[in-house]
Amino acid sequence: MLPYSDSAGGGLADDRLDRPPDVDVIVVGAGFAGLYAILHLVECGFTVRCFESASDVGGVWYWNRYPGARCDVESVDYSYSFSPELEQDYEWTERYAAQPDIQAYLSHAAERFDLRSRIQFDSPVTSSRFDEERRLWRVTIADGASASARFLVLATGPLSVPLVPSLPGIDSFAGAVYHTSRWPSEPVDFTGRRVGVIGTGSSGIQSIPVIAEQCEHLYVFQRTANFSIPAQNRPMTPEALADIKANYRARRALTLLTKGGSPYQYRTDSPVALAEDERRQAFEAAWERGGTHFLKSFGDLVTNEESNRLAAEFVAEKIRSIVDDPAIAELLIPSDHPLGSKRICADTNYYQAFNRQNVTLVDLRRTPIAEVTPSGIRTEGGEYGLDDLVLATGFDAMTGSFQAVYPRGAGGLSLRDAWRGGPRTYLGVAVAGFPNLFLLSGPGSPSVLANMVRTAEQQVDWLAGLLRHVVDQGATLVEADVAAQDAWVRHVNDAAEGTIHLRANNWYLGANVPGKPRVFMPYAGGLDVYRRECDEIAADGYRGFAVVD
Ligand code: FAD
Ligand code: NAP
Repeated sequence: MLPYSDSAGGGLADDRLDRPPDVDVIVVGAGFAGLYAILHLVECGFTVRCFESASDVGGVWYWNRYPGARCDVESVDYSYSFSPELEQDYEWTERYAAQPDIQAYLSHAAERFDLRSRIQFDSPVTSSRFDEERRLWRVTIADGASASARFLVLATGPLSVPLVPSLPGIDSFAGAVYHTSRWPSEPVDFTGRRVGVIGTGSSGIQSIPVIAEQCEHLYVFQRTANFSIPAQNRPMTPEALADIKANYRARRALTLLTKGGSPYQYRTDSPVALAEDERRQAFEAAWERGGTHFLKSFGDLVTNEESNRLAAEFVAEKIRSIVDDPAIAELLIPSDHPLGSKRICADTNYYQAFNRQNVTLVDLRRTPIAEVTPSGIRTEGGEYGLDDLVLATGFDAMTGSFQAVYPRGAGGLSLRDAWRGGPRTYLGVAVAGFPNLFLLSGPGSPSVLANMVRTAEQQVDWLAGLLRHVVDQGATLVEADVAAQDAWVRHVNDAAEGTIHLRANNWYLGANVPGKPRVFMPYAGGLDVYRRECDEIAADGYRGFAVVD
C-alpha cells in the first residue's frame, strides 16, 4: 500500500481545499508507454505514482503468454531508444523476440531505471473523477483505496481489454477455456489433448502452429481467413547485433522519418506499372523479407485497389503452393477484404500447420457455431469433441481500456457519454471536457498503425513538454479546446479516407465489438507527419489547449 493511499471510500474527510494532491502525476499502466512515462516525467521534475492491474511490468507482454507470442516489428526497433546504455546492454537473440524475451527486457528496464518502487501492482483503477474545485484527479483502486494527482495519464494500452465472445453454452464447457490475452503464467500442457482455437487473427495465427505440434488434435474454428506473411524469423547473430549497436543512432533517426516507425525506405512506385516478371520478383523479395513489411512493398498497396489486388493474388498463390489440400487452401485464402485492411499477420509455419494430420479447419462461414457444449463445440455442420478451448478472439481495442477507468471530467461528464458516438480526441492525447487527463496511444494518434514503442516515446516526450509548459507558468489546469478537437477529428477522418482500412470489418473501426460505434480510430497520416504536427503545435504555444492559472 502506498503511504498516501486513503482508506476505502475515498477519504473525503481529507479532501480539504488546501490539501495538495498526493502526487503531480498518476500514471495508470506499466507497459512500454507507462514505464517510459514514469521515468521521463520524474526526470522532468514531477512526482509520479503508477497503478498497474498486473503483478509485474510488461503490459501486453505480461498478459499475452500464449504459445508462439512474439513481436512483428523487429526487436532492435521494437525497443526503447531513449537510453543508449540500455540499447547497448540488452542482447536480443532473435529477429522477432518471443514474449518471454520482451517481458525480460521490460523487467530489465524497470530494474535499470529503478521504476518498480513507483508502481503499485495488482491494483486495477476502477474509477476516476476530476475534482473541479481542487483541480485534481482522484482515482479509486479495486480494493477501495484512492489517490489523487494534479494530472492523470492513462497508459492503459490500445489492446489490453480482451474480447470474450458470447457463445451460447460457453459456461457449460467442462474443459479449460483460455483467452490468448489472459494466458496463465504456468505453462499449459496440451499433450494428448483435443484443443479448439477460435479466431484466426494475429494471436490465433501465431499460436496455432505451436499448439498443433503439442496436442493430440487441433480444431481451428475460422470465421474470416486472414492474410499472413511468414515472419522469416531467425536467430540474431552476434555480428548482426554488434553492427546494429554500433549504428543505433543512425537507425533510430531513420525510424523517425517513416510513417510506420521502422528504419526502412520502401519503393514508391506501383506494381501496376511493372511487367509481370518484375512485379513477381518484387513480391518474392518482399515475401522473403517477411512479415508486416510485405504491406509496404509498394507505396500504394493501401490506397490503390489494383495494386492491392495484385499483392493479394500473389499471397493466394503462395497459400496454394504451401497447403497440400486444395480445398483447405481455398478456405485459407481471404476473399472478403483487401490485403492489410485487417491487420496483416506475421507467422511461423501457419499455413504449413494445415498439412498436419492432427489439424482440422472448421469453416464457420459455412457452418456457424450453434453452441458450446460440456464436451466441445457443435456447429451447424457437426460436433467437435474438445478437452480445451482457446479464445484468440481479440480485444475491445483503442477505447476499451480508457473507458474501463470510468473517467468523469468537468461537470461529472463521463468518457462513455463523451464518446457515445465514437471517440473524439485532440491529437489522441487529450479530450475536451476532461481537464488534466491524458491518453497515451489514444484514438486519433498513430498508435497501432506504427511501431508502438516509437509512438509511446514520442507521445510521452511531447506530453512532458506540455506539462512543463503548464506548471512553469504557475498554472494548474490544461484542457483541449472543443474547436481544436473537432478539427483534429476531421483530420483523422480525412487521413483514413481512401485507405483500404475502411473496407473491412476490422477492429480499427470497432467492428469486432457488438454495438460499438463504427469510427476509424487510429490516425492514418503516419508517425512522421503526426510528430511534425505535434511539434508545430508545441512551438505555437500548445495551440488548441486552454491553460488556466
Ligand atoms: P500495454 O502494453 O497494453 O500496457 C497497458 C498496461 O495498463 C497493462 O499492463 C494493463 O494491465 C494496464 N492497465 C490497463 N487498464 C488498467 C487499469 N484500469 N488499472 C491499472 N492498470 C491497467 N505493437 C507493435 O508495434 N509491434 C509489435 O510487434 C506488437 N506486438 C503485439 C503483440 C501482441 C500479442 C499484442 C496484444 C499487441 C502487440 N502490439 C505490437 C501492440 C501493443 O499494444 C503495443 O506494442 C504496446 O505493447 C503497447 O504498450 P502500452 O504500454 O501502450 O500498453
Ligand atoms: P483479432 O485480430 O481481433 O482477431 C480475432 C479473431 O477472432 C478473428 O479471426 C475473429 O474473426 C475471431 N472471432 C472473434 N469473435 C468470434 C466469434 N464470436 N466467433 C468466431 N470467431 C470470432 O485479435 P488478435 O488476433 O488478438 O489480434 C489483435 C491485434 O493485436 C493484432 O491485430 C495486432 O495488432 C496485435 N497482435 C500482434 C501480434 C504480433 O504478431 N506481434 C500478435 C497478436 C496480436 P472475424 O475476423 O470474423 O471477426
